[in-house]
Amino acid sequence: MTNASLNQILDSACRSIQDQIGSGKVADYIPALARVDIKKFGASILTLDGESASFGDAKEPFSIQSISKVFSLTLVLNQIGDKLWERVHHEPSGNAFNSIVQLEMERGIPRNPFINAGALVLSDILLKDRTPDTSIQTILNFLNEIIGEKRIGIDHEVALSELETAHRNSSLVHFMKSCNNIENTVSDVLNVYCNHCSIAMSCEDLSRSMLFLAKEGFDPISNQRIISPELARRINSIMMLCGHYDASGDFAYRVGLPGKSGVGGGIVAIVPEVGVITVWSPGLNKNGNSLVGTSALEAIAKISNWNIL
Ligand code: GLU
Repeated sequence: MTNASLNQILDSACRSIQDQIGSGKVADYIPALARVDIKKFGASILTLDGESASFGDAKEPFSIQSISKVFSLTLVLNQIGDKLWERVHHEPSGNAFNSIVQLEMERGIPRNPFINAGALVLSDILLKDRTPDTSIQTILNFLNEIIGEKRIGIDHEVALSELETAHRNSSLVHFMKSCNNIENTVSDVLNVYCNHCSIAMSCEDLSRSMLFLAKEGFDPISNQRIISPELARRINSIMMLCGHYDASGDFAYRVGLPGKSGVGGGIVAIVPEVGVITVWSPGLNKNGNSLVGTSALEAIAKISNWNIL
């Protein structure tokens, strides 16, 4: 595909949803996120052969929030492989991202790595033989190595705001610790988790950093294997089934691609063997997924005819 036709797809999809920009509600349970301009909208596509297209605020860094769980999952799978599934399941949750109820019924084993409880276990595993600082640095190094420049970092204002209001996440870690599913201190686990959720990246950076998932774990631009084909397939299937919390079914129905959203309003979708699409619009729907971002991805998938179904 040429840059011109990619631009055409992205342009007509984004224009078709333009009157929706500004809808939804910004996440306000993390005070620093409540200040983001709801009218922001960005989108980017990057293909395996390096063609790209961008729209709107595609270069502006935003808080990636739960999208960061794809990176921590990749690192943890590289660290301990399928042993992860002894501590976290890989089933859709059908519950809110920060639900406590299901965790108690299932004795401290989170449903999947993308709900908060599951991602907190990932942070605990990343802390093995590392301090909180070196764990966070490991994630940043991973991203900066793929991007090829040292410019991805943490938005410290968001991280602080998140740590100060992490009451629910703290309950989840305490509960899992009581079930022997957390090895480190509660504060170290929260520190790693809140900091990686506060990484700031643009749509263009996100598309670049997840290109390996469109090519079975191999990054075609830097010619590096990031993860084995088998584990890359696992990440994509978890994105397909669990990437949007209790609206994962709705996202699969509307978009038909593996994806991961964050309460900062970003969504990344993987088009296997083609490339990556990232959208950003801070207004969320009631499930905590970007409202306009989902519509934009639905329009892009429809116009391009990219889907895995
Ligand atoms: N850091 C957010 C939290 O723990 C992540 C939620 C999200 O993006 O879905 O609540």
